[in-house]
Amino acid sequence: MKLKIASFDFTCCEGCQLQLANRESTLTDFLELLDIRNFREISSERLGDYDIALVEGSISRQDEVERLLKIREQAKVLVAFGTCACFGGVNSLKKRFSLDETIRDVYGEMTIETLPVRKISDIVTVDLAIPGCPVDKEEVERIMVSLATNSLITFPKYPVCVECKQQLNTCLFDLGEICLGPITRAGCNAVCTTGKTACLGCRGPAEELNMPAFIELIKERGLSLDDLHEKLTFYNAFEPLATDET
Ligand code: SF4
Ligand code: SF4
Ligand code: SF4
Repeated sequence: MKLKIASFDFTCCEGCQLQLANRESTLTDFLELLDIRNFREISSERLGDYDIALVEGSISRQDEVERLLKIREQAKVLVAFGTCACFGGVNSLKKRFSLDETIRDVYGEMTIETLPVRKISDIVTVDLAIPGCPVDKEEVERIMVSLATNSLITFPKYPVCVECKQQLNTCLFDLGEICLGPITRAGCNAVCTTGKTACLGCRGPAEELNMPAFIELIKERGLSLDDLHEKLTFYNAFEPLATDET
């Protein structure tokens, strides 16, 4: 039976939804699984009866709260789809600035409605969280098959380092950089570190992470705890592990 699915975007770049239309090699089979009821980016259908709601983005306006509550009423399974939805994501960077001052600097006297960023689970019950900035299409396909067949949904418990080592990458710590791979949940195939960019932890904490040991590693290498804090707070995915000490 096809999954009756709808996809909705809130405060975000919509990159996670776009991932659903990627990976042409499996796209036809993937779409065979889905009865798309509402999905602005790939379909003109606007049907209100869906079972699964993919909710992309974080919440940063009052009208978004109200729209989300309506989606929750309809959906049997509400999925926080992508890092913005699961943790707040890059939108959380606005925490670093005074909102009033920034609005004044950027928009002058215009009235701009914006609230502090909240993740989806701050507003409604989330049944399933799929992290990633953007989500990994292969992982999404696997999860959709599990939903369609009523099978257990699992995520890797190990950290990004495992996938990074499988790619035979040189560790970025050996090049003097802080990388969040040791404490971040795998599943992205270490795409950033394979491209020689440090992991910023978009997939959130690995299940068996050892934060004290990780902080010791940073200190031993003579790296900066301020830099660590900046990385830990980039996607807001390590709250409450990102303390003043880190
Ligand atoms: S998680 Fe990343 S790719 Fe997805 S909507 Fe947010 S910013 Fe865009
Ligand atoms: S580069 Fe990052 S992900 Fe790769 S092994 Fe080193 S710490 Fe782990
Ligand atoms: S390497 Fe880190 S930041 Fe990059 S996609 Fe994977 S989890 Fe996200």
